[in-house]
This record gives sequence, C-alpha cells and structure tokens, in this order.
Amino acid sequence: MPRGSDENEKAAMELIKKYKKGVLQSELWKKMGLDSREGSRLVLRLSKKGLIKREQVTVNGRRTYRIFIAEKPIESKVLNVSISSILDIPCTTCPYIDECDLGGFHQSSTCMLLELWLTREATLSSARNRKVVKKAI
Ligand code: SF4
Repeated sequence: MPRGSDENEKAAMELIKKYKKGVLQSELWKKMGLDSREGSRLVLRLSKKGLIKREQVTVNGRRTYRIFIAEKPIESKVLNVSISSILDIPCTTCPYIDECDLGGFHQSSTCMLLELWLTREATLSSARNRKVVKKAI
C-alpha cells in the first residue's frame, strides 16, 4: 500500500537510525520498496530539512551516497515569522513616511531605523527557529 510522504520520511528516518555507519541510498530505497525516483526525492527532502547528511562514496565503480542521521539538525531556512513582528515596524510611527522613498533624504534602502528593526527581527526569528528545530528532535 502506498504511503504518504510524511509516512515515508518517518519510515526512512527509523531505518537510517538502525545503521550506525550509514546506509547506501539504493539500499534504503530497496528496503522501503521505492524506485530510484521516489527514493531520490525522499532523500533530498530529508536532506533539505537537515535531518540527514549524505556522504559521497564510490561502490563498484559507481558514485552514490551513504546516508546518516544528522547529529545536529541543520537550521531550517524557513523563517518562523508571525504577524505580531510587523506591529512595531518603525515606519508606522515615522514622521517622514510621506516623504520616504520619493527620491529625497529618507529612503528605506538607507534607513538606520529600518535596518535596526530588521536586524532585531532576523535575530528573534532565528531564535524561534532554533526552538522549533529542538522541539522536532
Ligand atoms: S524606512 Fe525609515 S524613514 Fe522611511 S518610513 Fe520607515 S522608518 Fe521612516
């Protein structure tokens, strides 16, 4: 019976965990009953999520990958943002908002207030993402 992608990911992670020295990706696909296309996509998804790491190896003259569980999940590239984060954007209370970006002195591309706010939001978002990743472990 075909499984959904989430179920396949869980099953793959359980299988990979059993191989302390890593598992060849083709072995993983065979054990899961997947063809190479499905298997490749699954491995790429897990890799993008930072849950596994791949090491290129040559077996019988062919290049392939040995797959391991990532010891420390890689931080997600997806930013964890919420609508509340834009409530204190400096532009909402800026006295120069009507002139901003009209070719004058005040521009969003050089505004220190906006840069400070963005830097703070990026730092907070990164901290939230680390919490999400820790919960997922
Ligand atoms: S970018 Fe800066 S100058 Fe422009 S409206 Fe926002 S806070 Fe004001």
